Amino acid sequence: MTDAGHSGGCQCGAVRYHCEALGRATICHCRMCQKAFGGFFGPLVTARGLTWTRGGPDHFASSSKVRRGFCSKCGTQLTYDWGGEPEIAIGTLDDPEQAAPVLQVNPADMLSFFGRLHELPLRTASENTQAAAFMADIVSFQHPDHDTGQWPQEQAGENGRD
Ligand SMILES: [Zn+2]
Ligand SMILES: [Zn+2]
Repeated sequence: MTDAGHSGGCQCGAVRYHCEALGRATICHCRMCQKAFGGFFGPLVTARGLTWTRGGPDHFASSSKVRRGFCSKCGTQLTYDWGGEPEIAIGTLDDPEQAAPVLQVNPADMLSFFGRLHELPLRTASENTQAAAFMADIVSFQHPDHDTGQWPQEQAGENGRD
């Protein structure tokens, strides 16, 4: 599974990475991860042999011992550097299914509704006419879940036209 390693990157595609293998995947409930990710928890997995294959992250020192890497162009959270093997944000992997979490950490800051999220009703876009109309002709500018020779595609199209 990890022979070819794992790739991923930020939403806009300015920063791409590759790692040889993934270690333990966790979700962190600490208040800093909630804030940094703008979410309910921080999804992180240890990345062994991490290299940047396009661009690289900027950093914010969230404490005296930890710095968090992010894309300065689109804001995607990418890494958690604590001095040892870096951790990467699971959602930035091209295939997040490769990093199913096995542990929850810092439960003291867990949001009270976290345990009930799986009980929420589901609604697809097709069940809501306004959402369906919005999605019908939307064009995504998100980098695809694989490495690209050139990005954004508009530039590739201009340069590649003959
Ligand atoms: Zn980006
Ligand atoms: Zn945390």
